[in-house]
Amino acid sequence: MLFSYHTHTEFCDGRAGAADMAQASFEAGYSFLGFTSHAPLPFATSWNMEWKRLDEYASLIRSLASAWEPRGLVIFLGLEIDYIEGLVAPRDAAYDSIAPDFRLGSVHFLKNLADDEFTVDEPADTFAAHMARLGGDASIVWKQYYGNLSAMIEAGGFDIIGHFDLVKKNNAGGRWFDEEGKDYRAAAFEAVDRAAELDRIAEINTGGLARGKIDSTYPSAAILKRMREKGLRLTLGDDAHAPAHLGSYQQAAIAAAKNAGYKSLWYMDSDRNWKEIGVDEAGSPRESGRE
Ligand SMILES: [Zn+2]
Ligand SMILES: [Zn+2]
Repeated sequence: MLFSYHTHTEFCDGRAGAADMAQASFEAGYSFLGFTSHAPLPFATSWNMEWKRLDEYASLIRSLASAWEPRGLVIFLGLEIDYIEGLVAPRDAAYDSIAPDFRLGSVHFLKNLADDEFTVDEPADTFAAHMARLGGDASIVWKQYYGNLSAMIEAGGFDIIGHFDLVKKNNAGGRWFDEEGKDYRAAAFEAVDRAAELDRIAEINTGGLARGKIDSTYPSAAILKRMREKGLRLTLGDDAHAPAHLGSYQQAAIAAAKNAGYKSLWYMDSDRNWKEIGVDEAGSPRESGRE
């Protein structure tokens, strides 16, 4: 069974319309697809949805859900909502107006480290410029990132934790920091342990693979292994920004889960209940429903 609860469209920084993404997921044999536009924020960015488009987004996704449901594809209206301490959080009532089916909680932004916008997943040259201003000390970046992630995990108000170690996006080849370093591991594992204690659900996200930024999933193997040891439940998120991202990387996500020792994954069914599925059953296209 194919499922993903992380899909972007032209409402934010995706490269295709929602209808095209739904069509592509159907053709790839998906059973469950969650749309997660970058939710509007208290300030404007070039990749978040604008507030004035929120209702239009919701009605389009709802109409796609009605259209595809009879053909065996369940579509969910979701939002990828930032956690920025003191400013925005996944549970914020500002998003209640569209009654999303689920909320994906993510950390992208860093605070008080630059005069301009500073996100961990920004383009490599921008990230390098920010690092220069920090004297090259990347520990400032990952410490704040995991601090923010832990605070979000504690606060709750989301259904899925997005791309757990996104902070490594610009760190291909260990350019800025050592992901095997003791202190880095400790910061990541602290967030894992608390997420497991609170019975949160995290995604295996293949967005970095799809965009050729990194050669591994979010999270990395060592973090996935810790998650398995602590019993943290996992689902799948393509972080698809184009139709070609749908389904192409599910096997990589499943292989990563298996390598970490996971025997099962979790998917959200049409009643929005989390259900367990064997890793070997995940990743197979829907057989019925094709026309
Ligand atoms: Zn994200
Ligand atoms: Zn995303």
